[in-house]
Amino acid sequence: MLKKPQTALDQYKNKRGGTIDQELTWAGRLWYFKHWRGIRLTALTAILAVAYVVLQPEPVETVNLTYDIDLTDADRGTLTITMIAEGNLPDYLDLEFPTGIFGDTGNGVRPHDPSGRALGADGEMGVPLAVEETDFGWRLATQQVSRAGFIYRIDLDRVPGSEQDIRRHISTPVAGGLRAAGFEIFLEPRGMEVRDITVSMHNPTGMPVLVPWPALVKGKDLIAERRRQLATNSGEASLGLGQGFKPGVGLEPATRIKNPMDTAASVPSNLLYHPRDMADLNNSLIICGNIRSLESRARDTVIQYATDQTWLFADEAALELIRRIARTEMGFFGNSPTDQITVLLSANEVTSDDGFDVYGVHTGSSVLVMLDPETTWGMLEEQAASVIAHEMFHSWLGEAIPQSDPQMLWFTEGATTWYASRMLVSAGIWPPEHARGLLGARLERDYANNSLLGKMSVAAAAAEVMADAEQVRFGYAGGVNACIALDEMLARATGTVRPMDEIMRKLYEDRARGGLTREMLLETILEVTGVECGVWLDTHVYGKTALPPSNQLI
Ligand SMILES: [Zn+2]
Repeated sequence: MLKKPQTALDQYKNKRGGTIDQELTWAGRLWYFKHWRGIRLTALTAILAVAYVVLQPEPVETVNLTYDIDLTDADRGTLTITMIAEGNLPDYLDLEFPTGIFGDTGNGVRPHDPSGRALGADGEMGVPLAVEETDFGWRLATQQVSRAGFIYRIDLDRVPGSEQDIRRHISTPVAGGLRAAGFEIFLEPRGMEVRDITVSMHNPTGMPVLVPWPALVKGKDLIAERRRQLATNSGEASLGLGQGFKPGVGLEPATRIKNPMDTAASVPSNLLYHPRDMADLNNSLIICGNIRSLESRARDTVIQYATDQTWLFADEAALELIRRIARTEMGFFGNSPTDQITVLLSANEVTSDDGFDVYGVHTGSSVLVMLDPETTWGMLEEQAASVIAHEMFHSWLGEAIPQSDPQMLWFTEGATTWYASRMLVSAGIWPPEHARGLLGARLERDYANNSLLGKMSVAAAAAEVMADAEQVRFGYAGGVNACIALDEMLARATGTVRPMDEIMRKLYEDRARGGLTREMLLETILEVTGVECGVWLDTHVYGKTALPPSNQLI
């Protein structure tokens, strides 16, 4: 296999899926997005990877992984995680630290106190296994071991970084518990094929837990089967596995509100989930503590609202707002890529002067929105709704249609921002004039009057995710403007209304093709409209020729 040297960050980018996104409310002083993750394979490495898969025989080492998360100390911000690897284990198991958002282990959650044990086939504890620290994590000696348990601890209350650094606020202690993103807590075995992943949560105090999608283990049989497995593994009790494991118990506390709007049968929830792959594992958001949750449905998708705050608006009203947004976005695409969408409203604890009013983050099918605790219902509808709609839209554009090439960020962010406004209008949450006014003002300020107009291409501005705020605003507002202008140009060429809608749906339909590239977008436009627009993109998006601000905003 061709291999080029990689920095820790490259490895991180290549390995960890998904996208994290941060933005300011429309009404704020600044418009600001940052993407930390989601930059994975370049086109070239993608080709190499495909060649590797095609040419390479089946890797010998395949493992099944179980992560048991012990929530005993979660209310103090600490997790004890036991990773059990079983299968064809090599002589050493290289375990990579969760690299956090920037792949910067010095500035993020850092696991500690490792220990390893061989495990017998029937679950009894075997000999201690040697653990060695490496550049990227730990190496566990697993000679002649077919089942290994590895314990480590994570303290979420000791994450370094500046107060306004949003990274500190994703995985963090919250009232009575914590929330933790998968990409900050799970160790990954390196250079192995992972066949099956199970995450179980040990919840002895019965605290409310939101078990993340993907693939909640549903149905009594699966739960019973899993309980049997865990029961027979009782020898691992000291490894933190199986103790007090009571599926569902943690999810029925008094704080759980019966949702009067939920006409469908209640959704089975328990303390197990089953990620499809490592990207799913990394994307999962685990939330426990003093949370209230409500569930509703839009078609077959569970819409879940959760919060750890008391707000000036009713939980039921917030859930209904979220459900209307979800239903509209699902209606636009035809279905949801996941069978659960969770929106967590939490307090914005970023109090510095250069912080933002509202932060939105999405990981997998979870959306975290951090709001001023004084947010009124009116503010939620007028301002925060756009953050919810934006982040939720990324479930389709950004997650299902993966954002993997920085050169496509103009499209992913531009289209998501534009469609979020249109979805709010379609859902009846925003009057069209409100959406037009906000979009228009934003294009005027951040694109038409931006000092970079004509000096830098929109694609280049948007691609540099760590650029200064002026450039980021230019790239993203330019992306919105380019998407609308492209739609107008295609509408004129084809005589159809909003041809971009069909292009979006086609991109979603063809999502199995992998990371979105410029070529993929061009092909899809050609297929849907018959228009070749490479030159147009080269001129207005990848080139510096300014477009007039669009008129047909909504
Ligand atoms: Zn975004």
